[in-house]
Amino acid sequence: MSAYLVLARKYRPTTFSEVVGQDHVITTLKNAVLSGRVAHAFLFCGVRGVGKTTVARILAKSLNCTGRPDNDADPCCSCPSCKEIAGGYSVDVQEIDGASHTSVDNIREINENIKYPPVSSNYKIIIIDEVHMISMNAFNALLKTLEEPPAHAKFIFATTESHKVPATINSRCQRFNFRSISVSDICSGMAGILTKEGIDATSDALDMIAREAQGSFRDALSLLDQIVAFGEGKIDVSDVQSILGVGSRDRFFKLAEAIIAHDPPAALETLHMVFDEGYDPEQFTLDLSRFLRNLILVAHSKDNTAIIEMVDTGPNELEGLKALANKCSREELSNLFSILLKSEADIKRSGIPLIALEMTVVKMCMAPNLVDLSNVLKKIDSFRLGTVSGATASSEHPKVRRTRGGGAWMNRPKIFRSPCKARFSCGFRR
Ligand SMILES: [Zn+2]
Repeated sequence: MSAYLVLARKYRPTTFSEVVGQDHVITTLKNAVLSGRVAHAFLFCGVRGVGKTTVARILAKSLNCTGRPDNDADPCCSCPSCKEIAGGYSVDVQEIDGASHTSVDNIREINENIKYPPVSSNYKIIIIDEVHMISMNAFNALLKTLEEPPAHAKFIFATTESHKVPATINSRCQRFNFRSISVSDICSGMAGILTKEGIDATSDALDMIAREAQGSFRDALSLLDQIVAFGEGKIDVSDVQSILGVGSRDRFFKLAEAIIAHDPPAALETLHMVFDEGYDPEQFTLDLSRFLRNLILVAHSKDNTAIIEMVDTGPNELEGLKALANKCSREELSNLFSILLKSEADIKRSGIPLIALEMTVVKMCMAPNLVDLSNVLKKIDSFRLGTVSGATASSEHPKVRRTRGGGAWMNRPKIFRSPCKARFSCGFRR
């Protein structure tokens, strides 16, 4: 029986074209390889599971590939060099784990080795993963080599915590920021893999897995592995819910509708349905924050359609969010988010997080109706331009009257022009 290879390893991209969601990095690297203008040191930054190490290996393969045509930056994956790098036994490409090679001695060894020309390839390439873990002295020991490296040397550093990499190292490297992968990119990547595996999955189920992965493709594939084992050849939302312990997205919509309608009983009923399904209160709070964040972005997308790109959701949910966003003002949504955010720490700290969350939801239900400020300003403007009837203006003060002639400005209610003559008696300043 052959050993089972997890999806994340089985479908690890082997060429630039297979990398998901990092087009800005891939285009630049491909152009550098094709034009021969390849920097001597790279720093790949980004959260876990977005393809930093994978791209580092592809770049190493591409630089040392002997079967690659001149007009294609993708490695051939079949020449001896590509096979050696893929198998992890290349003498010219060394992959080092920064977390376990933190000392100055480790870096001295690299400094010594890098002086000698490559054995059978174009370049000697050092890949250091989690480079922020190496000690400050080790970083200092690396400086001289990075400053004046031999012509055959290339360094590729990867880190999830770029702020811990000293500025002296940063400035000697070409830096690439890897993005968190969008829900739609993760969904399409997973769909491609499932087709190759001959497994059916509903788009709702993939949406749910992608959201749970929070921008990390590797996390998404690890979850998918777990769900494939459970689902027996077919994946639907209920499989994902039972494995991840997350409720249906409908629950978020129902809860948000109840909150917007100021209906605490309906909100509490939905909340309890969620917990009956085994949702963790802390996780639910985080997921509700993300849901509200998406709702706020959708509400603001009426003014700027580019914002819709930032909404972290699949196309199925987007329409529902648009409909929900029309039911209340943006100020109200911001206020709800603010209440939830302030309560988040309390829910985490509480010995009984479920009750803390219940009270937060009740508080959100009882939040006052806030009016969109832009609407208020529009009304004031129309009032000033005299488009609002005099009766409305007069309601401000019994003595407000309009002057004759002089256009819109002269027709403005007197309330904007002079103090009330009767202010000493009634205290109202016009
Ligand atoms: Zn090759």
